[in-house]
Amino acid sequence: MALGIYEETQRALQRAIEALQLPEDVYEHLKEPQRVLTINIPIRMDDGRIRAFTGFRAQHSNVLGPYKGGVRFHTSVTLEEVKALSVWMTLKCSVVGLPFGGAKGGIVVDPEQLSAHELERLSRAYIRNIREFVGFDKDIPAPDVNTNEQVMAWMSDELSQLEERNVFNTLTGKPLLLGGSQGRKEATGLGVVHVAELAARAFGLTNEPSLKGLRVAIQGFGNVGSEAARFCAQSGAKVVAISDEKGGRYDPDGLDLPSLFAYRADQGSIAAAPLGQAIGPAGPLTLPCDVLIPAALEDQITADNAASVQARLVVEAANGPTTNEAAEILFQRSIPIVPDILANAGGVIVSYFEWVQDLESYFWAREDVIDRLKRILTDAFGRVYAMYERKAVDLRHAAYMVAVERLAEAMQLRGWY
Ligand code: NAD
Repeated sequence: MALGIYEETQRALQRAIEALQLPEDVYEHLKEPQRVLTINIPIRMDDGRIRAFTGFRAQHSNVLGPYKGGVRFHTSVTLEEVKALSVWMTLKCSVVGLPFGGAKGGIVVDPEQLSAHELERLSRAYIRNIREFVGFDKDIPAPDVNTNEQVMAWMSDELSQLEERNVFNTLTGKPLLLGGSQGRKEATGLGVVHVAELAARAFGLTNEPSLKGLRVAIQGFGNVGSEAARFCAQSGAKVVAISDEKGGRYDPDGLDLPSLFAYRADQGSIAAAPLGQAIGPAGPLTLPCDVLIPAALEDQITADNAASVQARLVVEAANGPTTNEAAEILFQRSIPIVPDILANAGGVIVSYFEWVQDLESYFWAREDVIDRLKRILTDAFGRVYAMYERKAVDLRHAAYMVAVERLAEAMQLRGWY
C-alpha cells in the first residue's frame, strides 16, 4: 500500500539522516512538528447562520529561527498534509540558508463557496485563534493555495487591532501599501524558472543560460503556475501545455500566453480557451516536452503515471507533486527532478526579504529584490548539485541532505543532542 504523505516525508528525512551518518537523536527532534494546533472556527454566514470550519497550524522546527509558512484554504486540507508541508518548510528554509524554521497552516474550506465577507470573517477568525502563537519572532504566516495579498491584509489588520498597534511584520505576502515587498507576488514563479535554467544547463538540455527553444509543460495556472509560464516565455521557452483544475490546453507549437491570461481573467478557468487542443487537468504531466513544471498540488506524479512522463527534466513548483515511488521511477529513467524545497523557495526567500524590510521600515527596489533572490537560489542550487555529484544520489535526496546537515549542526550548537 502506498504510504501517506506524512509517512513519506518522515521516510525521506530518515534516509537523509542515515546517509549523513547522523545519530538517531536528530530524527527524534525532526520526526514530528514541535507544536500542532487544531482549531474550530465558527463564523456567521451571510444568511445569519453559524458554520464551523476546521483549521490547523503545524510548527515543525524553530531550530534555525522563527517558524515560517503559508496558510492554505482548500477542501483537501488535512492535519497530515499540513504537518508534511511544515516539515518541507523547515527543509526549504534550511536548504537556501534562511534564518527561519518551518510551519504551515490551513483551513478545510472551498473559498469559492464563500462570499467576500464570509472569506474575510474566516480569515480574521483563523488568525485570531492562533494569535498567541504567531509574531515576527515566533511564527510568520504567508499565502499559499487559495490565499493571497487580500487575505494577508485582513489577517494583519486583525492582529494589529487586537494588539492596538500595527504588527505588519507578523505576516508576509502582504500588499505593498501594508509593508509588502516588491517582487513577492512573482517570486515563486520567477525562482522556479531561474532554477529551471540552472538545471537545464547542468543536465545538458541546453548550453544557454536560458530556456531558449525548450518546450515547457505546466500543471496549475494559479499564482505560481501563471508566473512560471510568464517567466518561461521571457526566458525564451515555448510553453506547450498548461492546465488548471478544470482542464487545460496543449499546442506543440507553443500557446499564446497573453490570450490565455486574458481568457482566464474573463472566465476564471482556461479549460475551454479557444487555443490548441483541450487536455485534462493532469494532461501536462505526460505530454511531450523538455521541462515539466507541476505547479498545482501534491501527489500528481505517482507510480501510476511516472512511466508516461515524457519530459527530460522535472522542476517541482508545487509542494510534493511527486511521490517517493514516482521519484524512484523517474530516477531509474534518468529524468532529474529538481525538488520543491529548492525549486519553489523563491516565495519564502522574498518573504524573508519582506520581513527584513518590515523590521527596518526601509523598502528595496524591485531589481535589488530580484538580484538577491537569484543569488540565493544560485548558491543553493550549487550546494545541492555538489552533494548530488558527490554522493551519486537523486537531487531530492541531495537537497534533503544539505538541509538536514545545517539543521543538525544548529541543533548540536544549541545543545539539543
Ligand atoms: P493557487 O491557488 O494560486 O493555484 C493553484 C492552481 O492549481 C490553480 O490554477 C488550480 O486551478 C490548479 N489546480 C488545482 N488542482 C489541480 C489539478 N488537480 N490539476 C491541475 N491543476 C490544478 O496556488 P499557488 O499559490 O499557485 O500554489 C501552487 C503550488 O505551489 C502549491 O503546491 C503551493 O504549496 C506551492 N507553493 C506556492 C508558493 C506561493 O508563493 N504561492 C510558494 C511555494 C510553493
